[in-house]
Amino acid sequence: MNNGLDSSSLPPEPASRVKTEGYHMDAAEFRRQGHQVIDWIADYYQQVEKLPVLSSIEPGRIRAALPEQPPGEAEPFERFLSDLDQIIMPGITHWQSPNFFAFFPANTSGPSILGDLVCSGLGVQGMLWATSPACTELETHVLDWMADMLALPPQFKSGGDGGGVIQDSASSAALCAILAARERATGFQSREKGVDARLVAYASSQTHSSVEKAIMIAGIGRERLRLIEVDDRYAMRPDRLTDQVEQDLAAGLKPFFVCGTVGTTSSNAMDPLPEIGAISRRHGLWLHVDGAMCGTAALCPEFRFIHRGLELADSYCFNPHKWMFTGFDCDCFYVADRAALIRALTILPEYLRNRATESGAVIDYRDWQVPLGRRFRSIKLWWVIRYYGVAGLQYHVREHVRLARELAREIQASADFELVLPPPLNLICFRHRAGDEFNRRLLEALNRSGRIYLTHTLLKERFVLRLCVGQTQTREPHVREAWDLIRQTARALS
Ligand SMILES: *Cc1c(COP(=O)(O)O)cnc(C)c1O
Repeated sequence: MNNGLDSSSLPPEPASRVKTEGYHMDAAEFRRQGHQVIDWIADYYQQVEKLPVLSSIEPGRIRAALPEQPPGEAEPFERFLSDLDQIIMPGITHWQSPNFFAFFPANTSGPSILGDLVCSGLGVQGMLWATSPACTELETHVLDWMADMLALPPQFKSGGDGGGVIQDSASSAALCAILAARERATGFQSREKGVDARLVAYASSQTHSSVEKAIMIAGIGRERLRLIEVDDRYAMRPDRLTDQVEQDLAAGLKPFFVCGTVGTTSSNAMDPLPEIGAISRRHGLWLHVDGAMCGTAALCPEFRFIHRGLELADSYCFNPHKWMFTGFDCDCFYVADRAALIRALTILPEYLRNRATESGAVIDYRDWQVPLGRRFRSIKLWWVIRYYGVAGLQYHVREHVRLARELAREIQASADFELVLPPPLNLICFRHRAGDEFNRRLLEALNRSGRIYLTHTLLKERFVLRLCVGQTQTREPHVREAWDLIRQTARALS
């Protein structure tokens, strides 16, 4: 046999062959262990409310409890779950606790977890339509559903020139938007010849750091990202945006991109999209709108004010993995002109060529994102939407906003605390009247108690507590108890 290989270059046959039979988990064992794992997760959800929300272990504790060396021989699966309990759980901060009010939530829910399990079980890599047609078509379809559910402007649906795709995060969505904007602004030449050093981008001083990071990665350079001043509600000032764009044009630079945020991370500020959109149109800027957490609110018609002006945007994203009960990772990213995005990112080596791609009749989502490979993430989103129905999702969002607004009223009425800003939706920014140092100590004491978890921000140089009502399991009693605990702890510290 001449297979073109020189047999002398192959490794020698081992004296005794490595046993290969019985090394994989067969269906019977998978079924048995799988039931145990599901039981373990169900038990976790039954008790998560009682666990200390914020893990308090010292750095290095988890690693110290793990064996120095990987196992040489197979270990019994039974030990895996007990090690989870003993080694891992002390190092878990319980994002799925109803007493989690920190940052923004990173939600999940039963149907999402089960959908994710199916995604793992199928183990599909959906880089091309041809590598699993259902992976692509379900995603396109569910993203069109989502566009209708949020009443997004029609340019974002797949029936016209636009369409949606699931990204791992709002950070990746911002990066893809910036890359498409960069190419559109340079006649699709940056990808061939390198970046034009005259490009300049705009965002507010309150914009999420992921935009700054994307500007850095896209080769624009942070010095070419103008952080526009905000008004007293922390929203971008359109007059300052106009001034800066005009100044940059006069200096021979090329303004190409602006990011507007609906619901900033620090204080939930809403940038004025109609005005920013008008400026974008006038100067040919790509407008990306980041609705990472608050986008979910648009499920409810009464909260759709946040998207006023969105019809002027070139791209938009929000994270079902924050407030829409869908597990990380799931960011819905929409573009009005998918051709620009695809032209910016496409690359076709010989080994990916196939008839479906060449027919032009299918979507290949590898061209809509940075990595080549992708998981079948739309299953979990599909199951969440079907499990709750639009009405069920609306109910939970309304309930969270109602609870946040009620708490805001209590804070406003209290003698010791002040509401720093009226909450547009479900994020409350407040502080004790006793000053920064006191608020710092209060936050530390609250989080040390393990009963709730809050974080902070700085607004006008002042230390402010942030409380976000958005965890899947958070109900009225949890918010009431949190407020009681905050007041008691403050009294004890005074
Ligand atoms: C959380 C957040 C992001 C980043 O989200 P990832 O999906 O983790 O990248 C971006 N923008 C805003 C406004 C956010 O709140």
